[in-house]
Amino acid sequence: MAQRRNPGSTHVALGFAARAPYFPPAMSTEAHTSVRPWRAIDRRKSRKIRVGKVEVGGDAPITVQSMTNTLTADAAATIEQVRQLEEAGCDIVRVSCPDEDSTAAFRQIARAAKVPLVADIHFHYRRGIEAAQAGAACLRINPGNIGNAARVKEVVQAARDHGCSMRIGVNAGSLERDLLEQYGEPCPAAMVDSALRHARILQDHDFHEFKISVKASDPFMTVAAYQQLAEAIDCPLHLGVTEAGATRTGTVKSAIGIGSLLWAGIGDTIRVSLAADPVEEVKVGFDILKSLGLRHRGVNIIACPSCARQGFNVIQTVETLEQRLAHISTPLSLSIIGCVVNGPGEALMTDVGFTGGGKGAGMVYVAGRPDHKQDNEGMVDHIVALVEAKAAEIEAANAPAEAAE
Ligand code: SF4
Repeated sequence: MAQRRNPGSTHVALGFAARAPYFPPAMSTEAHTSVRPWRAIDRRKSRKIRVGKVEVGGDAPITVQSMTNTLTADAAATIEQVRQLEEAGCDIVRVSCPDEDSTAAFRQIARAAKVPLVADIHFHYRRGIEAAQAGAACLRINPGNIGNAARVKEVVQAARDHGCSMRIGVNAGSLERDLLEQYGEPCPAAMVDSALRHARILQDHDFHEFKISVKASDPFMTVAAYQQLAEAIDCPLHLGVTEAGATRTGTVKSAIGIGSLLWAGIGDTIRVSLAADPVEEVKVGFDILKSLGLRHRGVNIIACPSCARQGFNVIQTVETLEQRLAHISTPLSLSIIGCVVNGPGEALMTDVGFTGGGKGAGMVYVAGRPDHKQDNEGMVDHIVALVEAKAAEIEAANAPAEAAE
């Protein structure tokens, strides 16, 4: 039996059931993985918390986060960047609050945002209280770093009063001095000790709405730290490889670090850290989740690398299609393959496919079956129209179910 490219996507099953006999339409994610055990990911059972309206942990979908890099005090610029991130599908956005001007602007930004915002706080407990009052859904704060017990109590009370959760964020580059002395250098065990220390402070205040991250720029250290932490505590885990680098290297490191943890069932929310436009972080985040079949958004394009056999310019076509189909958020798959060597096989597993042939034309596949011929000329417009129509069909088929939720 062939495997579809959108495993577990009921959208696809509903939209193309009549023409996809190789993929039973009512097949659930569980059933799907039970017949393909090599696809199953046994997710760690964490407790569920809320970041505003978004659930994190438990059986909630794994969320994608990013962070603004505008000056927070410049509310207009930050609101615009939050909007761009929302458009890219970002579930939760983090905003730095280094000073009072930032927390003052935070209120306006939070009012304009559709997604929940996390206020990033370092050391200044007052900023934490101000951000909670200004509409933060979550505070990224390490309670052990904000001073005496009275301050911690005030921040926890502000979080409780305003329905904020918290994220403890341990970073290998900024571990406490005594832990560095004890362990000799940053290492997974020191990071976990640090995280549990901060967690105990919150637990002592009977505050349990928190998640934890233990990030390092080295994927080995990151993965080992999360593995150890996952054994030690049941709170949701926010995954990330910190300071991963520019787009290409950062994507590779994140895919290895975040990807291997998710594959092992660890992780409830992710942030890909790139020295790039934050929108790229969201795209890469979704690509990691898509690759593991954990979440689907937008058009998943399967393309061959092309060679002398290609019946059309595969690389240029895929680049254009990626841009022209970027507005579609409905999960579906599209194969663009240069020739019949791999085209029919790949098309069998996708919702829409195009395989190059001879004489300036190729075959269009719908739901895995050859449907009609199409000249290479005008092929991009034709495929865009087909994919848009399929996305609309899938959305319409899912509308009653979504309305009932
Ligand atoms: S599918 Fe055809 S065109 Fe594409 S790389 Fe393979 S042989 Fe070459």
